[in-house]
Order: sequence, then structure tokens, then C-alpha cells
Amino acid sequence: MKTVCDLNLCNGCMACAEKCPKKCISIIDNIKNFNAVIDESICINCKLCQRTCPNITKVKKLKPTEWMQGWAEKDIRVNSTSGGAAASIIKKFIMEGGYVASCLFRDGNFVFDITNDLTMAKKFAGSKYVKSNPSGIYNKIQERLKTDKVLFIGLPCQVAAVKNYIKNQDHLYTVDLICHGTPSIKLLEKYLEEKGYNISNLEDIKFRNKLDMGLFINGKKVEKPRVLDDYLCTFLNSVNYTDNCYSCQYASLDRVSDITLGDSWGSEYVEEKNNGISLILCQTEKGKELIKGINMSIKDVDLNNAIKKNHQLIHPSVKTNKRDMFLTRIISGKSYTYSTFISLPKVVIKQIIKKLLIKLHLLKY
Ligand SMILES: Cc1cc2nc3c(=O)[nH]c(=O)nc-3n(C[C@H](O)[C@H](O)[C@H](O)COP(=O)(O)OP(=O)(O)OC[C@H]3O[C@@H](n4cnc5c(N)ncnc54)[C@H](O)[C@@H]3O)c2cc1C
Ligand code: SF4
Ligand code: SF4
Ligand code: SF4
Repeated sequence: MKTVCDLNLCNGCMACAEKCPKKCISIIDNIKNFNAVIDESICINCKLCQRTCPNITKVKKLKPTEWMQGWAEKDIRVNSTSGGAAASIIKKFIMEGGYVASCLFRDGNFVFDITNDLTMAKKFAGSKYVKSNPSGIYNKIQERLKTDKVLFIGLPCQVAAVKNYIKNQDHLYTVDLICHGTPSIKLLEKYLEEKGYNISNLEDIKFRNKLDMGLFINGKKVEKPRVLDDYLCTFLNSVNYTDNCYSCQYASLDRVSDITLGDSWGSEYVEEKNNGISLILCQTEKGKELIKGINMSIKDVDLNNAIKKNHQLIHPSVKTNKRDMFLTRIISGKSYTYSTFISLPKVVIKQIIKKLLIKLHLLKY
């Protein structure tokens, strides 16, 4: 089997498959890892795939020159995962005549689209704690850049793929997220199926709200309030990511984008924390342009403190034997609940006790 980048280290960005002139690359999702497999009987050895792949062709990373924290106006902040910096940047960019390409949930998939419509752009809001699928967005951005400026918002590896794909970047702006890893969508599908949901039939899915971590289906939490579901347990404990994420080259303070966004976990603005506070790192002049005059409350931030709360700014998530215990069970057909319990017994027991205490009215929601 011939693959575009090293075996089992593909990040699923789909850029090579979109670039390939012979359309002879298939991206295979094995849950544990992704691979971009080349059909050698059709391949003409043009090497365009390798030149596009962010694992092979490295993208220049830059140190942030400005770091800050802040929160958006009420309407935007309430619908965002964190402080609403992403939606504020999107709104300003569109109002100034640009197009935005980002990720949304549609027909059971986490896809990308591009728009200059403010109502449509609202659908981008929210963190999706799963590997999204940028297939098709690269050509759309390239075409749109011929006449307009475009802002791409995505995971760091996806920003790197966009930069390799698009040669003329004069009017391209990029925002990436601090990222500790992503699981295959097959894991989310499996978990939801066990809970009685078919992902293809869902109108809306969220992964947390301002006060509570967990899956929300059409606005309703899958588990009890304050109780973590098994999907989020495995996500937050770094046991369900694909192999490549544990050696991610973008988990560093040097960034591939103009602006990097995350959660300002260590913020001293305690009274604001429940509503979400964004951490904002700015690397370039384009980044400064993106946030200049933005409608947000912007404050200074102590970068050392922010880094302390966000190891992904220094090193990738660590692969432990718990991750192998979890995925070995899943791949052998065991249930999500059982596999989570075997790999993270203490975490699961804590959630069971919480549930019990809530039931007995000994713990408030
Ligand atoms: C997988 C993942 C892991 C993360 N890990 C951390 C972390 O460890 N530390 C930290 O500080 N922050 C992390 N974040 C970022 C955090 O959850 C918020 O997205 C970020 O703080 C921006 O918040 P916001 O309120 O400005 O925007 P949000 O409302 O969160 O909007 C975020 C923007 O990013 C896009 N987006 C969301 N999910 C995806 C996805 N899966 N693929 C591509 N684009 C996507 C949305 O379409 C939207 O445009 C992570 C996000 C993701 C998706
Ligand atoms: S070398 Fe060219 S033809 Fe072959 S898989 Fe890569 S892009 Fe496609
Ligand atoms: S370009 Fe993306 S999808 Fe293709 S091999 Fe590289 S990482 Fe995988
Ligand atoms: S950890 Fe790295 S490789 Fe994995 S999804 Fe995040 S940016 Fe991409």
C-alpha cells in the first residue's frame, strides 16, 4: 500500500485528495489512524500530493507578537463556545466585504463551507470536538480568492493544508484554534448510536455549553447536567484521538496562522469566566488587521499563566496505555461505555457517584 505521508500519521485534512489531478487518492479512516492511499495504477507521479501535504511540506510557523484575552458582545458570546472571538472576527470580516470559510454540522457531517452571509456564518459557531472534514473547501477558497479576500478558520493542521494548497495568499487570512487532538467521527457515531441517536438524523449537536461539558443533542444534554458523558470523558482525557495527534507539530507556541484562539482558562477575570473568555494570540500584520476595531472587551493576559493551563501551546497530548486499552476494546467491537470504563475507571466511577448524589438531591445541578 502506497500512502502520501508516513503510514498512520495522516491528519485527514483531505488536501492531497483534492489537489490530485488523477483523483487517485482515498482517505481511509481506521478509527485509530488515517491514511491517504494512492491507487498506483492511475498515479502519474506528479508529486503534487506531497507538495500539498502539511506533514511533508512544512509551513512556516511564527511566534505570537501580541497576546490578549477578551469577550464578545452578549448575543455573540452566548452562542459561542468560549468568549466569542471567532464569531466577532467573522462578523467584522464579512461586514468589511470578505468571505469566511469554516466548519459547521450538516447532514451528520462536520463539513466546511464558505460564505459572506452573516446569518449563514452564525452556523459556524461552536467547537466541534471531532475530526472535521475539509473536503471541497480548498478549491472553493482558491476560486473565491481571485476576486475577494477570504478568512479560513480551522484546526492548525487544516490551516497548514490551506497554506500549502493555495499559492497566491495575498488576500488569505487564517485563524487556528489551540488543539489538543481530534477523534475519528466513527467514534462519535458509535457513542451516539449506543445512546439511541443516528447522527445523520440530528439537526444540531454541541459539545459543551458555558457551564457544562458534554454532548447536547438538539439542545438537550445526553447525560445529566454536570455529569460528563463517556464521549467527552475520553476526549478530555486524550484517549480517543488518532495516532498523528500525539506527535502534532502544531502543538507549540509558534503558530501557522495570523491569529490563534483558545480558552483563557487561567484568567483572573473570575466573574466573567462562566460566560467564556477567549485567549487570542496574534502573529502577523494580517492578524492585527483582523482584530483592529473589533467589537470585544479586550484585556491583557499573562502568557505564562495561559501556557500553564494549556499544554498544547508547548507539546502535544501524551499517548498513554489508557489510549491503547480504550481503542483496542472499541476496535474489537466492545461498547463505548465498557471501553471507557476499562481505560478510565476512576473518571467513570466519579461520574457515577456524581449522578447518584444528584439523584439523591445531595448535589445541586
Ligand atoms: C478539537 C478542538 C480542540 C480544542 N482544544 C483546545 C484546547 O486544548 N485549549 C484551548 O484553549 N482551546 C481549545 N479549543 C478551542 C476552543 O474550544 C474554542 O473553539 C476557542 O476558544 C474559540 O472559541 P470562540 O468562542 O472564539 O469560538 P467558537 O464558537 O468555539 O468557534 C470556533 C470556530 O472554529 C471552528 N471549528 C470548531 N470546531 C472545529 C473543528 N473540529 N474543525 C475545524 N474548525 C472547527 C468553528 O467553525 C468556528 O468558526 C479546541 C477546539 C477544538 C475544535
Ligand atoms: S503523485 Fe500526482 S497523481 Fe500521484 S497521487 Fe500524488 S497527486 Fe495524484
Ligand atoms: S495532505 Fe492531509 S490527507 Fe493527505 S496525506 Fe497529508 S495529512 Fe493526510
Ligand atoms: S492535534 Fe494537531 S494534528 Fe491533531 S487535529 Fe489538532 S492540529 Fe490537527
